Amino acid sequence: MPKRHSPDVVIIGAGVVGAACAYYATRSGLTVAVVDRGPVAGGTTGAGEGNLLVSDKEAGPELDLALLSTRLWRELSATLPPETEYEPKGGLVVAPDEPALKALRTFAEGQRAAGVDAAEIPADRLADLEPHLAPGLAGGFHYPQDAQVQPAQAAARLLAASGAALHLGEEVTAILRDPAGAVRGVRTARRELLAPAVVNAAGTWGGEAARLAGVHLPVLPRRGFVLVTEPLPRIVRHKVYAADYIADVASGSAALQSSAVVEGTPGGPVLIGATRERVGFDRTLSTEALRRLAAQAAALFPVLADVQVLRAYHGFRPYLPDHLPAIGADPRVPGLHHACGHEGAGIGLAPATGLLVAAALTGAAPPLDPAPFRPERDFGPADPIPPQEQQS
Ligand SMILES: Cc1cc2nc3c(=O)[nH]c(=O)nc-3n(C[C@H](O)[C@H](O)[C@H](O)COP(=O)(O)OP(=O)(O)OC[C@H]3O[C@@H](n4cnc5c(N)ncnc54)[C@H](O)[C@@H]3O)c2cc1C
Repeated sequence: MPKRHSPDVVIIGAGVVGAACAYYATRSGLTVAVVDRGPVAGGTTGAGEGNLLVSDKEAGPELDLALLSTRLWRELSATLPPETEYEPKGGLVVAPDEPALKALRTFAEGQRAAGVDAAEIPADRLADLEPHLAPGLAGGFHYPQDAQVQPAQAAARLLAASGAALHLGEEVTAILRDPAGAVRGVRTARRELLAPAVVNAAGTWGGEAARLAGVHLPVLPRRGFVLVTEPLPRIVRHKVYAADYIADVASGSAALQSSAVVEGTPGGPVLIGATRERVGFDRTLSTEALRRLAAQAAALFPVLADVQVLRAYHGFRPYLPDHLPAIGADPRVPGLHHACGHEGAGIGLAPATGLLVAAALTGAAPPLDPAPFRPERDFGPADPIPPQEQQS
């Protein structure tokens, strides 16, 4: 009988982050198996919008990760098939009044020092970029590095390109450890997959996967709704959002927050996302969330007021209380690595995360300082947790 070789690494999770980890790990010469209890992109990746944004990130470790990812997504777009729908369309952040514009200016100054391209657009030039924008805005900033992919396709194409062995429809129920405590693989209902390294890329369920190895990682769900309109001619050219979106992203508040990000898609529908609220895994449709999104989108683009919404969908972002993902080796359990907790930016941050994980697995020099993403760090307190969040 032929001998079945164990992989070098088992990755838990076939979302975009697990897929990027698989891609860069195999590129580094490792053999990889990816296990998911559902299909590829069946978790939050299938509910994401696919914005690859630097514009909404203040100077700091997350922006550094986003800038590296921006470069990597551009490289990947040259090799992945067109279904990935990579579009370097750029972002436009608009300010309703002078104080908001002033705040954007200060924000952009910090970003520029970190390597972001940001150009101020005076009020009378906004229509050159977006002819259907509402009149009366004070001005805005153009971010040419912002881009877009189709998230589920991106995950599937990265996995296919990685050549990793895929085990779908198999839940990891245990992380196996040797007598010294080191990882030696995972167990599913169908098999034991032995490997000296396991990567926790379980997204919003990353805390539960960590628990299987006996460590604490406080990943919580942060719900978001997205509206999808009927197909339209290309009336929105960039990713367009109002300045208050940046504050929403940075906030850890459990309460409902919404500030619309509006963008056209190659297929025609306009995507309007996304709300943020910490209500556990509550799947109830929130008409208040949808109403707010629709009103904000129509305020930015009045032409949208008369457009039909075809559907709305929701997902649960993997939220860590300090808003940074957990990436890298876990010193508490030899062989255990984490790549989860990317909240609302996991599509954008996936390639740089994959590269960091591959470097940690092989002992190569990391592409940037991994210290801010240490999985054993003190995450600080989360905002008060609503009672529903106890249920999953
Ligand atoms: C409404 C909304 C809009 C968003 N928009 C954007 C955006 O525009 N840009 C952006 O960058 N990000 C966006 N995000 C965030 C982004 O979708 C996530 O950060 C990203 O998808 C996380 O990817 P992941 O691979 O870590 O997790 P997931 O895609 O959730 O993958 C984790 C996988 O692990 C599997 N799994 C979990 N536990 C186990 C187990 N025990 N055994 C086996 N498998 C297991 C799950 O089945 C799942 O498939 C958005 C999110 C939402 C909700």
